[in-house]
Amino acid sequence: MTRLLSLALLPLIMLSCTCTSNRESAPMLIALSFDDGPNDVTTPQVLDILEEFQVPASFFVIGQNINDDTAKQMTRAISLGCEIQNHSFTHGFMTQMSKEQIEEEIRKTDEIIEKYTGTRPWMFRPPFIDVNPAMHEAIGHTFICGVGCFDWEPQRSAQERYDILMAAAKDGDILLLHDMTGNDDTVEALRMFIPEMKKRGYKFVTVSEMFNRKGISPSPHNGILYSNVLQTK
Ligand SMILES: [Zn+2]
Repeated sequence: MTRLLSLALLPLIMLSCTCTSNRESAPMLIALSFDDGPNDVTTPQVLDILEEFQVPASFFVIGQNINDDTAKQMTRAISLGCEIQNHSFTHGFMTQMSKEQIEEEIRKTDEIIEKYTGTRPWMFRPPFIDVNPAMHEAIGHTFICGVGCFDWEPQRSAQERYDILMAAAKDGDILLLHDMTGNDDTVEALRMFIPEMKKRGYKFVTVSEMFNRKGISPSPHNGILYSNVLQTK
């Protein structure tokens, strides 16, 4: 009887072992994202580091920054496995705009990104993370925020930016950084951050890939502003 019971339970035990080992082997994921590009000064410095460490990232670009020259940074980013998403056309305070203005900000940026990359964005980062229900209603993109390190403040050193990111970063997080012209301290912080996170077992992915790998398909107009893809509200 005991032997029979053991045999009957064996497949269940094996299944449970398999599940446990799968869960243990799944890497922790983190997504780097950069706002306010593209430009010919700091965007290429960020891309150099991504290339050096062989990690992708998501770039949320401002439509009016895109021209024949800066677009080359976007195509290089894509060749490195990165993605390009929407950060509005003029980087204004969109909660003060009419529905038509909001829609134009999104459409014009989507169009110029698509013109140069062949891919239309599906995610949107609101300028200044300034949002209201009218924006969620007018924009069908998934809204992305992120975990930041005050890297728009010039007095924050590279070490301070690195320390803040290291203390905050966890599985599923979207990290919000800026590749605006002259943001050298963020470039330096990245040089420390990426290898240290790899050493701790994290895998870097784009925001899109993180949603995919976590099995999450955000529905449009869901009202969520994601800083971690596992968020439900
Ligand atoms: Zn911005």
